[in-house]
Amino acid sequence: MPRYEYRCRSCGDTFELSRPMAESGAPATCPAGHDDTVKLLSTVAVGGSAAGPASAPSSGAGGGGCCGGGCCGG
Ligand SMILES: [Zn+2]
Repeated sequence: MPRYEYRCRSCGDTFELSRPMAESGAPATCPAGHDDTVKLLSTVAVGGSAAGPASAPSSGAGGGGCCGGGCCGG
């Protein structure tokens, strides 16, 4: 479950909450009980549609490595 960081504008405290992505935009209450909080940009990279070097794992095309064939076997 991704963690999101929030900042309370009432007391200026920052806190983290672990919640589902579906609730990432839901209002968060600071540990002191304030409701005036804002969500900060988290450094935790969760799979999303955000721009980034999302390189899919290249599918290996079968086996047949170098060694074993003859290219490096001498
Ligand atoms: Zn607060």
